[in-house]
Amino acid sequence: MQIYNTKTKKLEEFKTLEPGKVRMYVCGPTVYNFIHIGNARPMIFFDTVRRFLLYSGYEVNYVSNFTDVDDKIIKKAIEEGVDSEVISKRYIEECLKDMASLNVMPATINPKATEEIDGMIDMISTLIEKGYAYVAADGTVYFSTRKFKDYGKLSHKNLDDLRSGERALKVSGEDQKQDPLDFVLWKPKKEGEPFWTSPWCDGRPGWHIECSVMSKKYLGEQIDIHGGGEDLVFPHHENEIAQSEACSGKEFANYWMHNAFLNINNHKMSKSAGNFFTVRDIVEKYDPMVLRLFMLSAHYRSPLNFSDELMEAAKASYERIVNCVSNIDFLLKGERVSNLSDAESEVLKSLEQIREKFNDVMNDDFNTADALSCIFEQVRLVNSAANEESSKEFLEKAKKEICTLSDVCGITVERTQELGDADIEKLIEERQAARKAKNFARADEIRNELLEKGIILEDTREGVKWKKA
Ligand code: AMP
Ligand code: ZN
Repeated sequence: MQIYNTKTKKLEEFKTLEPGKVRMYVCGPTVYNFIHIGNARPMIFFDTVRRFLLYSGYEVNYVSNFTDVDDKIIKKAIEEGVDSEVISKRYIEECLKDMASLNVMPATINPKATEEIDGMIDMISTLIEKGYAYVAADGTVYFSTRKFKDYGKLSHKNLDDLRSGERALKVSGEDQKQDPLDFVLWKPKKEGEPFWTSPWCDGRPGWHIECSVMSKKYLGEQIDIHGGGEDLVFPHHENEIAQSEACSGKEFANYWMHNAFLNINNHKMSKSAGNFFTVRDIVEKYDPMVLRLFMLSAHYRSPLNFSDELMEAAKASYERIVNCVSNIDFLLKGERVSNLSDAESEVLKSLEQIREKFNDVMNDDFNTADALSCIFEQVRLVNSAANEESSKEFLEKAKKEICTLSDVCGITVERTQELGDADIEKLIEERQAARKAKNFARADEIRNELLEKGIILEDTREGVKWKKA
């Protein structure tokens, strides 16, 4: 397996620290609002990485944090006249609901910053003891970037340019920094803000320290994969490396993976710019699996522009897979011969070859766009091969092929209860009874009712078949 590593700017062969086990950390959201579909891009992508690693036989320990203490959370709490904990708790719950709807597997653990303050104080103390951090007059603790000789190794930035840029931007209150690139590890409390007691002052942590602490606590000093959106490379991940490596003296993460932005009109979707759709907005209109398929339709390192046309195309693609699988389910309900024919064996062989191609493209830095094309290729083959003469074995194996690959992408393709299977079947039965009783008006009424809900009925000699429009 090859992974593109931001740190070396190269594709590298994937080797784990421990045989068969992957330690993975993905930076999670700051919880002050519903997540937007830009935030959903890393969630869906890294969940797919995790699923592919599992499918490849690895055990995966997957940690993703919630930043639940932050200026934006405090601002929102003040606006609503509640504690900031009320805001963060609410949006953590809502975020978990959105992730579940997008079929993102629950993390091994989702640590919260406010529950890890002791660990942060410990790590900051170690950094001070080792000479990598200093305390300013007002109790603010800064990381001294000049002391960490590898500072800048992830983002490949010219630090001298950055330093002079920062100097020009210098704001009052930051004058205590010894170097423009030094960053806050701990800062004094302000009136009305949540705070914790520390050896330096009553206050709260800077943003970067939480990820170093949580990943050390739940995964160990060294991890395999660290992920997040590309906006996190600098300064967040650069600072995480500085903190963790200054503390442990060991390489923090072996593979740094960053997804490109989800854009809208070619601009980054973001809360602050106001050009966003929440996951809620989108799943009101589309099945969440359509959003998932859309996200995976581009390589993760390429920007993806959100548009109605692309969502409609993703919807059509999704329905093609679902209809193929539900057609197999329908055929499996009838009496079928059990033995594979030679022609069917050939088709199964081709499906297997497509699965190997799927493995190859996913092993090549998670090319999900090509992986989806493999699923569509399987669907085309199965659609032309499956019919009322198909054997049971063929239908079952063909279904398994398509479901296995879809599942690696986290795309559920079997009709779920949400689509109202039981209700649809009940209405179909009622329509059959009405027809038998020659009550054609009622039978037509039911057909139209289903059509309004996007369900198309087809009368075949085997009975009534249905599919989504
Ligand atoms: P935040 O809540 O802003 O810290 O973001 C949480 C995660 O979402 C981080 O990994 C960000 O890099 C990522 N993210 C935010 N906006 C976008 C976007 N428009 N496209 C892709 N990733 C994003
Ligand atoms: Zn982080």
